[in-house]
Amino acid sequence: MFRLVKNGNLWYYTIDSFERTGLMKHCFTTRRGGVSTDEYESMNLRMNCSDSRENIMENYCIICRELGIDTDSLVLSKQVHGVDIADVGKKDCGSGFTRENSFESADALVTAEPGVTLVTFYADCVPVFLLDKRQGVLALVHSGWKGTAARISALTAEHMSAVYGSRPEDIIAAVGPSIRACHFEVGEEVAKVFIEKFGEECIVYGYEKPHVDLQRCVLSQLSDCGIPPENITDSGICTYCRSDLFYSHRKTGARRGTMAAFAQLV
Ligand SMILES: [Zn+2]
Repeated sequence: MFRLVKNGNLWYYTIDSFERTGLMKHCFTTRRGGVSTDEYESMNLRMNCSDSRENIMENYCIICRELGIDTDSLVLSKQVHGVDIADVGKKDCGSGFTRENSFESADALVTAEPGVTLVTFYADCVPVFLLDKRQGVLALVHSGWKGTAARISALTAEHMSAVYGSRPEDIIAAVGPSIRACHFEVGEEVAKVFIEKFGEECIVYGYEKPHVDLQRCVLSQLSDCGIPPENITDSGICTYCRSDLFYSHRKTGARRGTMAAFAQLV
């Protein structure tokens, strides 16, 4: 399960199945416990926006201090709603944070090197954590609706197998807080894309317009790669329903901050 950790004002989630491995430090942030104000209140981790640089940096410091990780170890994604996967290591530390990204674009980050902290960003899109427990290979995936339709989570698991020799049965996975079928309304043309790829069961009817169950699409693509269902955790949390805890793009539009997933092999 996803566990809400409260340390004073600072609230964030950890995943029990990942915690139990003893292989990593990780969290999924909420909007609570940072220093940003107004629409960014308060744990905004979005780098390029009108929030003050000073506040953003302080927010990173707060999370890193809490997790016991060094800000010099961060490798930030460069998300473009594509399917590029970047393999990163020590040489990439600081990428996207204190210097330009060392890769063109990446909606998924993978590492097998301890001490390298992967960071990916969300405000409704689906966060996916993957860990090969046997070999110590870690991945974070940003699966928006385009990435979900393009099967980026499956592509990342397959990449772990092809490049690192990961066996699907050794991989544990978690699907984090994101917009769920209760609130993910789409037009007919987007609904059609999902029906073609995942079948009618990924659509929830009964609303004015079709709603897509993104998490179901992610879970099914992870199972299709051979990851046992009992290895997969779904947070069950909708970011739109819980906009008291999360930034939700659907709810507020672009005037908002961004949550992040942090994960490091120790
Ligand atoms: Zn909802």
